[in-house]
Amino acid sequence: MAAGALSAPDPVSPPWSLQHQLTALGAALPAGTRLLAVSKGHPAATVRQLAALGQRSFAESRLQEAIAKQAELADLAALDWHFIGRLQANKVRAVLRQFGTIHSVDSLELAERLARIAAEEGLAPAVFLQVKLRVDPSKTGLSAEDLRQLWPRLLGLAPLRIVGLMTLAPQGLSGIESQALFGECAALARELGLAELSMGMSGDWREAAAAGSTWVRIGSGLFGPKPCQS
Ligand SMILES: *Cc1c(COP(=O)(O)O)cnc(C)c1O
Repeated sequence: MAAGALSAPDPVSPPWSLQHQLTALGAALPAGTRLLAVSKGHPAATVRQLAALGQRSFAESRLQEAIAKQAELADLAALDWHFIGRLQANKVRAVLRQFGTIHSVDSLELAERLARIAAEEGLAPAVFLQVKLRVDPSKTGLSAEDLRQLWPRLLGLAPLRIVGLMTLAPQGLSGIESQALFGECAALARELGLAELSMGMSGDWREAAAAGSTWVRIGSGLFGPKPCQS
């Protein structure tokens, strides 16, 4: 851990310091693991503050909220936006226009629709296929068997660029259990020749990073408690 970054007392002692959290996370993440700042529920002004501190990649899970925020931040051309929410069929075109990377592609039908509309829009989005490797009624995702079976068809879906796998751990796993789950997801990505892994959130990013995650998606652990309920 970043002892130096964590021990420096803040002269004004605000309740939450974005700079402190960003520095501490940056120091704690291994070299191959990047930080995706999950800004859902936080205002554009907060994203702007983080951008000024050097953070480029941000994730949103609700389209309407993202559109408004991105409009406010249109002057920051270098921001890299990722969509991590459940993607409804009727939102595909708008999501493609707003986001360069989509982490939540959980069915062949959705992937086919994305490919068709991306082609119409002249876009080549980066895509993570969402997998579900444990029984969990609250989440969606392809099983490992479904993914292996669909793989040849998914590979043919130009102009999508399938870059990796995304997974969410069920609530209540121990650290050992979540690390085992993330390890399985990493093995599956290797088997398919995929380089990227979107695994780990505020509560389990250490286990995910240890298992080789290339993107940890962190909201509350970076931004602190949400100003507005979402
Ligand atoms: C909200 C969200 C996160 C971030 O969650 P925190 O626990 O606040 O870090 C990560 N991934 C997905 C898919 C989310 O919806």
